[in-house]
Amino acid sequence: MTPLPLRYNMGKSENSIFVVDDNLCFGCGACIALCPTNALDLVSRLAVVEEQKCTHCEHCISSCPVFALSIEEVDQ
Ligand code: SF4
Ligand code: SF4
Repeated sequence: MTPLPLRYNMGKSENSIFVVDDNLCFGCGACIALCPTNALDLVSRLAVVEEQKCTHCEHCISSCPVFALSIEEVDQ
């Protein structure tokens, strides 16, 4: 069986931002292992994102057991 390709969002919008909810994240590292662009890291036991590396592919979002990850619209 051929694995499904990772879903990349090449149309990353300047009106959206990848968000880690610090109140929910407990530093399990599951999301970090899945990020295809190494945009995530653990700092002081919290996931942090390097926004420039994040393609908003959403691949990590479903990996978080406490739903701490999201992509949100921002006002310009
Ligand atoms: S959405 Fe998640 S998996 Fe995708 S690039 Fe951003 S941090 Fe990595
Ligand atoms: S998967 Fe969720 S709880 Fe685990 S490090 Fe990532 S954001 Fe934090």
